[in-house]
Amino acid sequence: MVDAHRTFVIVGGGLAGAKAAETLRAEGFTGRVILIGDERDHPYERPALSKDYLAGTAERGSVFVHEPAWYARAEVELHLGQPAVRLDRDTRTVELGDGARVHYDALLLATGAEPRRLDVPGTDLAGVHHLRRLAHADRLRGVLAGLGRDNGHLVVAGAGWIGLEVAAAARTYGAEVTVIETLPTPLHSALGPEMGEILADLHREHGVRFRFGTRITEIVGQDSQVLAVRTEDGDEHPAHTVLAAIGAAPRISLARTAGLELAEESIGGIAVDASLRTSDPHIHAAGDVAAFHHPLFDTRLRVEHWANALHGGPAAARAMLGQEVVHDRIPYFFSDQYGMSMEYSGWAPPGSYDQMVVRGDVGKREFVAFWLHEERVLAGLNANVRDVTDPIQRLVRSGRRTDPEKLADPSVPLDDLAGD
Ligand SMILES: Cc1cc2nc3c(=O)[nH]c(=O)nc-3n(C[C@H](O)[C@H](O)[C@H](O)COP(=O)(O)OP(=O)(O)OC[C@H]3O[C@@H](n4cnc5c(N)ncnc54)[C@H](O)[C@@H]3O)c2cc1C
Repeated sequence: MVDAHRTFVIVGGGLAGAKAAETLRAEGFTGRVILIGDERDHPYERPALSKDYLAGTAERGSVFVHEPAWYARAEVELHLGQPAVRLDRDTRTVELGDGARVHYDALLLATGAEPRRLDVPGTDLAGVHHLRRLAHADRLRGVLAGLGRDNGHLVVAGAGWIGLEVAAAARTYGAEVTVIETLPTPLHSALGPEMGEILADLHREHGVRFRFGTRITEIVGQDSQVLAVRTEDGDEHPAHTVLAAIGAAPRISLARTAGLELAEESIGGIAVDASLRTSDPHIHAAGDVAAFHHPLFDTRLRVEHWANALHGGPAAARAMLGQEVVHDRIPYFFSDQYGMSMEYSGWAPPGSYDQMVVRGDVGKREFVAFWLHEERVLAGLNANVRDVTDPIQRLVRSGRRTDPEKLADPSVPLDDLAGD
């Protein structure tokens, strides 16, 4: 069938979905492109929602993937504020919340993830927040400013990236902040205890209190207001607002009810191959929701990071057009906290590495940390050191043995170690 007569439907108006639409047009696809998103806002990028937008230093307009007029120019038909509620693979149709049905020749599921909720009494109180959407950030911004004015207290459940970034933003408003985390350090499973300690110190210097190794058992409230948080060790922590930042769950309900293959529960998401194709050849998945086989690490990964949506959406679009695609980017993540900028490249889950090497000055928070297995670099994190992502990624990709002493020696250029 010629392109002009084909309809490509994208469910999910986030970064992966919007970038896929852009790529379809950039690759010359002349058929219909329909983008369905359940949020009312045009597709936007989420990182600023826990950083400069939340702290009040970035404009709302700066977060959008494209300006609204772009969609009309690119002839991308938008259905915003409209969930896709059912997927019928036999008739190749997607049903929307208002009952409308859209036929597809190829479908991309880019439905992202949603925040996990605390399963404790009091979780439905009005002062308990989650942060995924622009609307959440709009609300939380006002709340943090109010806490800052009134010496109010924020309790953050979870010392992951979002929890820490919100803690940092809350401190810039002057709010009192306590972070409660079940594991012994922040970002324990993402970065391990060594880097976790460094981040905990950074936050303590800025006045954040931590409670590690315990969990919230109850959010105490009255008249829908939060008053305190109880932890399993029997302590009570004053709180006016709670942010539940305990991770996100991939949005797989459409895929599940349509019978698409899902990844094992420990990974979650929709199972796709290295070209991001699902178990149905007419359907691809990209971004946070896609659990893809990564050829380099020879394992299935689901990457809840901005860069994976940025590149995964376009990769899926090219695959939908019939091009040969291998989505084998090195996972990449960035964060900013109190002006400390960090970039992480690679994949080094707990138990995968046997050595850590640091080059630079941890005390000054200007360093690159490497995670190694048998002297092969699995991942690297650069903190306040710029322009080293390329050699770090080349080191990871090469899989070659690297002398740890040279890796730790700032006088040996990383480019020399990384090779071509
Ligand atoms: C607060 C915050 C800060 C972050 N900061 C960073 C960072 O600093 N660095 C980094 O690398 N990553 C960061 N991330 C992660 C990054 O934003 C995500 O990896 C990225 O948004 C994933 O894009 P996506 O398009 O796959 O999914 P999403 O951005 O979640 O978009 C999916 C969209 O699909 C919609 N949708 C879902 N189901 C349906 C349906 N049935 N019908 C219609 N629409 C549907 C959703 O509502 C959503 O709008 C952050 C995330 C958050 C929440």
